[in-house]
Amino acid sequence: MSSENIEICPVCQVQIKNDREVIFSSGKPGDRTRLWARVCQYVAGKRDGCINQDVDKISAIQPTDSYQPVTFKQE
Ligand SMILES: [Zn+2]
Repeated sequence: MSSENIEICPVCQVQIKNDREVIFSSGKPGDRTRLWARVCQYVAGKRDGCINQDVDKISAIQPTDSYQPVTFKQE
């Protein structure tokens, strides 16, 4: 039997696997902290039902957790 447990945040539409691995619709998987940095902090207080609002499961946000600004270089 698989012990895999996938929850989908009804607000952010992001999958959380086994209560820690976060599967984004694009890009590499991350963790709850990265999900918080990218998505959930923006819905906090605005919409109810986000399953990633538990501060005990979110650690300090690293600069690499946020979206990197896309820059276009012109030579
Ligand atoms: Zn969420």
